[in-house]
Order: sequence, then C-alpha cells, then structure tokens
Amino acid sequence: MPLIVSKLLLSFATVVGAPILYTIVFLILERRMNDVAALIIATAIVGPMSVIAWVALWRNNIIWTRRRSLRTVLALVASFALSGLAVPVATWFNYAGRNRSGVSEVGIVVGGMLFFLLWLVSSILAWQETKEERRCRLSASSRGDLPCPNCEYNLTGLREATCPECGTQYTIDELVASLADADIASKLHD
Ligand SMILES: [Zn+2]
Repeated sequence: MPLIVSKLLLSFATVVGAPILYTIVFLILERRMNDVAALIIATAIVGPMSVIAWVALWRNNIIWTRRRSLRTVLALVASFALSGLAVPVATWFNYAGRNRSGVSEVGIVVGGMLFFLLWLVSSILAWQETKEERRCRLSASSRGDLPCPNCEYNLTGLREATCPECGTQYTIDELVASLADADIASKLHD
C-alpha cells in the first residue's frame, strides 16, 4: 500500500477515532465523578492527543517554513479560543429560561467538537503548499532529481531505494511511477 494511502486511512481513523475515544474516556470517568468534570477531563485528554496524532501523521509531508510553523501555532490557538467561546454560548442556549449556573454538559461537548473541527480545517489550510513551492517541487523532479515521494529528500545517486531521511523503502518501479506522476503533473501545470 502506498504511504499516502496508509496516511489517509490513518487520518480517517483519527477523525473517527477521536470522538469514540472521547466517549470511552468519559464513560470510564463518569462513574467516579459528575458529568461536567468527566467531560472536562475527557476533553483535556483526547484534545491534545488528537492534535499530536494529526501533526505526527502529516509532519513529513509539510514544508516547514517559519511562516508555516507560525500559521500552525495560530491555527491551534484560534481553534482553542473560538471553541472556548462556544462553551458559554452553548451553555447559555442550553440553560435558557432555567435558573442554573456553571457550564452545561452540552456546552463542553459543543466546545470539544468545535475545537476538533476547527483544528482539522485550519491545520489543513495552514499546511497547504504555495504555488511557488509546488512549482519548485515539480521543476526539481523534471530536472532529473529523484525526490523521495514521502519527504522530498533527493534520492539521486543512492544505491538502494531506501530514503535516508525518512526511512521509507521503495521498489524501483514505485520510484519510476512517482517520477512519471510528477512529470505528468508538471506538464499539466505548464
Ligand atoms: Zn523520504
């Protein structure tokens, strides 16, 4: 299975798995404490885990410039701030007309889900390749360089089809196919 396919499958597992894990952690904690406390702790555990899993999954595919690192931090902070604001708003709607104080379970769940969605969308936007980066990448491959399909490390001159940078092993036909793909893409682009 090509690496990108397994990464896409793992991404799908992360997107589906995070809410499932959240529910499991909540159900375990809820036996020992009240629902609000259990939801807060479940969010504090699963939230950072899903951020770390997402970055770990895609970091080798991202061209880490200073600008892009900064955007990633901004995406994280903005997702956190906006979803934090959603908690009192959702609580207010939830408690409307009733005389209750504190945050509601609905407020925390809405905040948690919103954080996850905002982070996924904003990180994807922050990590997108610019036109210039794409042009450089494609022209490098058409110049006879052989970039690693996973991390773009230049594999030219190596005697084996294992990338020294990311460790991915290829067969010769996979590398030839990746060059052909880049060539077609650059022709379409021109
Ligand atoms: Zn590599």
